[in-house]
Amino acid sequence: SKDQGGGAHNQYEPKLHVHAEERRVMEMALRKALDNDEFSLNYQPVVSADTGGVLGFEALLRWTNPEFGVVSPAKFIPLAEDARLIVPIGEWVMRTACKEAMKWPSTIKIAVNASADQLSDPDFLDMVVSALQESGLPAHRLEIEVTESIFMREGTGAAEVLDQIIAMGINLSLDDFGTGYSSLGYLRKTRFTTIKVDRSFVQGAAKKVPESLAIIRAVVAMADSLGMSTTAEGAETEDEVKMIQKLGCRKIQGYYFGRPMIASDALELFAGYDMS
Ligand code: C2E
Ligand code: CA
Ligand code: CA
Ligand code: CA
Repeated sequence: SKDQGGGAHNQYEPKLHVHAEERRVMEMALRKALDNDEFSLNYQPVVSADTGGVLGFEALLRWTNPEFGVVSPAKFIPLAEDARLIVPIGEWVMRTACKEAMKWPSTIKIAVNASADQLSDPDFLDMVVSALQESGLPAHRLEIEVTESIFMREGTGAAEVLDQIIAMGINLSLDDFGTGYSSLGYLRKTRFTTIKVDRSFVQGAAKKVPESLAIIRAVVAMADSLGMSTTAEGAETEDEVKMIQKLGCRKIQGYYFGRPMIASDALELFAGYDMS
């Protein structure tokens, strides 16, 4: 609870319990959120660093609850993972995003985040195939984003699932690159389509922080020689965009080009576009 000036009655309440109670209540609400249609997707454009043209969108999950209001995914995704709700929620995201992408021009891709728990679910690949078939979206228009955390789990067969995703012709991105326990071993084993460079490096590079500049340069060079593309995440300013272009990232995503937007606004970007 966030009462201002907590009061004497809170004094003896162990903080942990307050948090546990808040989590419990939120988890109960989260369990009903799918049935109550409380989820929606926002779509953030990913643009070409060369032309600024839209290449695709990343689907970003939103939860709007009568009691909690709009809850940040940074808060409810970990809760959904702990409560084992991320598999059904992730399935809803995949199916909804694929259907929405079918309304866009056929060159435009849709990126969907998948958490480690989803990838270790034995039905994950069947679910993806079903989402593609149901929507009619070709595999090459789908991109699945995973973070380095999937490699931290022993014996989940993550690498095999990733290989199958690639074999299906789906694009595969390594998200938040450089923020986890980065190991280059899996870049040798898994043929990612794209490495997404975390916003912290983009900010640092624009401020000419030597380490950030060196790391982005090295990631771009490494990606190039591995036949992978790079996306710079979280570019907000012209300085950041210019620096990213100079450093050679192929794609850019960030508030400078577009915030996550509702589906109808994303579709509106293609108004007047010849869909044939
Ligand atoms: P992410 O996958 O790294 O997504 C990018 C986040 O950066 C998004 O936050 C986006 O709104 C934000 N962002 C984009 N451009 C800028 C910028 O220029 N400046 C700043 N400051 N931020 C920017 P969001 O939507 O709050 O999502 C947070 C995280 O929640 C995501 O990080 C992702 O890890 C997770 N998430 C969101 N949707 C899903 C989902 O459907 N499934 C799973 N498993 N995770 C999701
Ligand atoms: Ca992502
Ligand atoms: Ca990211
Ligand atoms: Ca992130």
